[in-house]
Amino acid sequence: MKTRPFTFWRVRPLPGEAANSYFSRLVADECNYLPRAYASEVGLAHTFRSDELLAAIDTLPISQEDKTRLRCWTPQEAGGRIHLAGQEFLRTEFRWTRKLECTACVREVPYHRVWWHLACFNMCPVHGRPLQPLEYESLTVGRHFPRFEAVAAERLPHVELGEVGPAFESHVIATLLRPQSGRSPKYVAHLAEACEFLGRLLGNPRQPVVPPHTLADLARGYELLTSGTEGVSASVRQWLESNGDPLPAVKLGHLLGWAAYHLETMDRPLDPLMDNEPNPLLDEVANIVRCECQRLLGSGRHT
Ligand SMILES: [Zn+2]
Repeated sequence: MKTRPFTFWRVRPLPGEAANSYFSRLVADECNYLPRAYASEVGLAHTFRSDELLAAIDTLPISQEDKTRLRCWTPQEAGGRIHLAGQEFLRTEFRWTRKLECTACVREVPYHRVWWHLACFNMCPVHGRPLQPLEYESLTVGRHFPRFEAVAAERLPHVELGEVGPAFESHVIATLLRPQSGRSPKYVAHLAEACEFLGRLLGNPRQPVVPPHTLADLARGYELLTSGTEGVSASVRQWLESNGDPLPAVKLGHLLGWAAYHLETMDRPLDPLMDNEPNPLLDEVANIVRCECQRLLGSGRHT
């Protein structure tokens, strides 16, 4: 039997905790070593690899339920995608190199929440503030072993979703917590893309080039989307009216600026090598926008 990397396994993997965070907490419970140094000591790559860490942790006599939970929350790469809690992400959507955290969350229950690595996750929905740079290992290149000042006393804390609603980030956590919900594995990534597009369009005046990306795009887009199809249509209508063009508009570009090009590229047949798979949520948003534009173009108000 393979030697166990620890002599204690009193702490349990928590919801939203990947193998690197759990390993670091096991180290903190075991001795006063730095997690990275401890990994090297027991023959594990100090840069950590999900499969290697999971195999090492599998040798511990913790419950099957805990092992399954840890596996679910540990991002694993296959086919060029990152798989996490039933969802699938591109490397640009889930970034190991993203060194952000909510320090208030870590102080309350010291463990690293894996959703902080998602490019679309910007604000802590529990504490209502943007994520901050890591306090420990902020300069590490690539993957890191977090280090905590205390071992989480809680056995299995309730995961808070926050009450800063409607927050996109709360919805992301809620989705990841229910991997069996029957959602498409691309749901979170597609929702983020659709929200960003809508938020960026309606949050800026009409302009020919894409406006600079801001954190507010996604939050604004999500808030608009939660108002339902009718709500989105009304917001698009209002935006078109407030961006009224004295010149006769004969095509989408006159009404939408940069976003028209975005919609046109969506209409092109997909190139299986270059393009991502279709995003039904973005299609839905695009259709609402097109519909509102057609109304104006067809009404003769601008022709
Ligand atoms: Zn927080």
